Amino acid sequence: MSVNVEDRTSEVMLGKAALRAKIYAPVGRCIYCGSTEWSAQQPRKLGDEHIIPEGLGGGLVLPEASCQTCEAVTSAVELEWLRGAYHTARVQKELGKKKKRPPRFLPLQVHRDGKTVWESISLEKYPAMIVTLLFDEPEILSGCIPVDKVLSGGVAVGTLPTFGQLLKPYLDQGAVTFVPPRSSATSVHLGRMLAKIAHSYAVAELGITGFTSFLIDIILGTDTRHLSHYVGGTRDVPPLSDKGYEIKLTTVESVGLLPYLVVKIRLLSDVNGMPEYWVVVGERGSDEQFRHDDPGNVQK
Ligand SMILES: [Zn+2]
Repeated sequence: MSVNVEDRTSEVMLGKAALRAKIYAPVGRCIYCGSTEWSAQQPRKLGDEHIIPEGLGGGLVLPEASCQTCEAVTSAVELEWLRGAYHTARVQKELGKKKKRPPRFLPLQVHRDGKTVWESISLEKYPAMIVTLLFDEPEILSGCIPVDKVLSGGVAVGTLPTFGQLLKPYLDQGAVTFVPPRSSATSVHLGRMLAKIAHSYAVAELGITGFTSFLIDIILGTDTRHLSHYVGGTRDVPPLSDKGYEIKLTTVESVGLLPYLVVKIRLLSDVNGMPEYWVVVGERGSDEQFRHDDPGNVQK
């Protein structure tokens, strides 16, 4: 069954300038569990949600949107990939908090004059490759029922624009072997991070009552058996874009009465070879619930 992607909602392709400045209206309720305060011990205002993680340049902010418990869960999931495959790219692109980081090094194996030597190279100068995952379309879009399985896919390799230049001095000496940063990040961590980005973006654009979410259990980790039903992507790697990331909301005809809401995400989209992910966040609400065109939803 082919999928008819209809763009009945306005697509929001965001450039760097727009991303830096976009602060949405406060939600006043945890967008994951519904709590109205930070914690029972500290009944203060809810925390602000960075839709794209700060460590990936996120400038879309949804104020008063996460409680302490849910923030701890979503942050821990995000850190798996931010400290793993994306780490070197983040250092080189100076993304994330401006705290002074201790210098870090990665080994590069260089074959020189018939000998093999290990060189320790600072992350700033490392010819980094980002090894990440490519996914097929979320299974819900082909109309099938959810099945228990692990989210799996192919491998995508991203290279920063400076890759060739940083690699050349070593390559001139002979062959090189890379050692990826040590990481415990899995496809489930990536899928849950994408689910969080997509859900919070849909809440920002549509309001918390603007749709029925499919993703809360996945985001909070209480049930991830059907991750590949809702989270996936396309194996067509889009061309390099000069934006730091891209996110857009679209609707797709569903087998039911209401169309599915799909958020398409590209992280580090200015890094060559980074894939596009698709997350089916939920079903669009009825028309009186649907507040996408309400300009009052966004604070300028
Ligand atoms: Zn919560």
